Amino acid sequence: MWISSAALLAMLPSVFAIPLVEAPYPGLDVTLSQVEDTRIKAVVKNVGTEDVTFVHINFFKDTAPVQKVALYQHDDSEIVFEGVEKLFQSSGLTEDVLTSLGPGEAYEDEFDVASTSNLSDGGRVTLHSEGRVPTVENGTITGSIPFNSNKLVIDVDGTKASEVAAAMKAKHQKRTAMECCPSSEKHFFLKAALENAARLASQAADAAEWGPEARFQEYFRTADSETRRVVAARFRAAAAEASSTTSGQTHYFCYDIDELCTFNILAWAQKTTNTIANCNLYYAFLHPTAIKCHGQDQASTSLHELMHVPGVFKPGAKDLAYGYKAVTALSPADALNNADTYALFANAVHNDC
Ligand SMILES: [Zn+2]
Repeated sequence: MWISSAALLAMLPSVFAIPLVEAPYPGLDVTLSQVEDTRIKAVVKNVGTEDVTFVHINFFKDTAPVQKVALYQHDDSEIVFEGVEKLFQSSGLTEDVLTSLGPGEAYEDEFDVASTSNLSDGGRVTLHSEGRVPTVENGTITGSIPFNSNKLVIDVDGTKASEVAAAMKAKHQKRTAMECCPSSEKHFFLKAALENAARLASQAADAAEWGPEARFQEYFRTADSETRRVVAARFRAAAAEASSTTSGQTHYFCYDIDELCTFNILAWAQKTTNTIANCNLYYAFLHPTAIKCHGQDQASTSLHELMHVPGVFKPGAKDLAYGYKAVTALSPADALNNADTYALFANAVHNDC
């Protein structure tokens, strides 16, 4: 992996224990409709009977190029998402990234799906959104609630769509050319984090393949031998990638090359360019290594990001759930495809949780 780095900030205590309490809840209903061309409106409504507060990072209302809907071609194959996946802190969350809705209340968001996927082939595209969004009390993630949308079918004009996509791509390619770390201190901490991530990933690979069945089942929701082999292979690929700072497929920047770091964001990944970037909060909020079970730290955060990158292992993992409680409630198929599942499993192996 190629790394570049930047300034050390004060090391504050990591606070990533997630005391998740999940009550039965109907969740959020999302209604997707077409505004014009590839511009989409989403109405997000609380269909439950209780007030709810959730993180809208990587969700409707986030103004960054995040994935709000999955896109499918006529043959049901998923169209590649070319935007970013952001990882955020699990406590100390500020009001600007939180949305509160009373029963029956709703909000709207508009976005252009051509800005985060190549739709230049045009034709019929189906949009759908489902998953779980983290719920918050007093600035700390305490659980998650499901969201689900209608399936919206649109006819895409490939020429118009390619004009939108081209604008995003040109900007990103220009920025990724800046590969140097302006801070020796950030460089130092990132280099150490990657060494630790390599160690965590190697331990996790062994545990996935040969370790106790109960722990593997706890995180990956199955003890199937083929699943254990695939998980071990992904960890070994991440270990190899993290153990070299001068070669590999990933461009790992020690600082925010694309101005995507806002308050609460630790790091982000962009799959199509195999790029990862740390935010200042990565250095300010996280300890170098985890000091408790299920905690966030620099090493496992970098490991989480490496799991997203298809240059490390295909397909790059998604963000389907964050934190221990939500992660261990996923289906086996979703667990295998969820970045935080790997980070938390590696943490559990290392700390013997
Ligand atoms: Zn992620």
